[in-house]
Amino acid sequence: MIHVTVWNEFVHEKEEKIAKVYPNGIHEAIADLLKKDEQFEVRTATLDMPECGLTDEVLAWTDVMIWWGHAAHAKVPDEIVNKVVNRVYEGMGFIALHSAHRAKPFVKLMGTTTRLKWRVNNEKERVWLVEPGHPIAKNLPEYIEIPEEETYGEHYDIPAPDELVFISWFAGGNVFRSGCCYYRGAGKVFYFRPGHEEFPIYYMDEIGQVIRNAVEWAQPVKREKVYYGFYEPLEKL
Ligand code: ZN
Repeated sequence: MIHVTVWNEFVHEKEEKIAKVYPNGIHEAIADLLKKDEQFEVRTATLDMPECGLTDEVLAWTDVMIWWGHAAHAKVPDEIVNKVVNRVYEGMGFIALHSAHRAKPFVKLMGTTTRLKWRVNNEKERVWLVEPGHPIAKNLPEYIEIPEEETYGEHYDIPAPDELVFISWFAGGNVFRSGCCYYRGAGKVFYFRPGHEEFPIYYMDEIGQVIRNAVEWAQPVKREKVYYGFYEPLEKL
């Protein structure tokens, strides 16, 4: 079993307009996508829970964390952010979705501003698969078409991805690196762009397939503990 924690700030969905799209919150919609595969054991956590729902016990249990945030990035205490980032260094997978490009743990893992261009103009997005052999590309078509989405545009201030899986094109002319893989310590990080709260993106089969693939890819792998520090020469000098 892969233990997945879906974290969501759960702020926008308390407004009527967004509650119509995600009546139980974005986290529950994402959890439903994961429950379609029996290898995932899923729990959800939100900002309004004690310790943001990310107690030491939850963090220790979690193999892969999915993060959605937008309006309340600053409300996540640094102490919790540091614990999440340290769990990534230990091997936990971390998947940042959409506006989580500015979530504190993601910014810390990138080490850049992670800023970008944006507009909400209900434009069509075509998410092109540019690394078809990648594990995150499993069972996906050449492109995913999203009828209406928020537009993001380059330049996106991230480090060059270790692997770039998707590039988006938008009807208004912008392009964007939409699926970016990183290795950080013993952990893996994936950024996936789609998922603005006003549109029913997390009900789309193909988006579900990407997220399930990403969790599988990001799960911790068994590896020898690496030694760091002072090191005697191996040869007689
Ligand atoms: Zn958005």
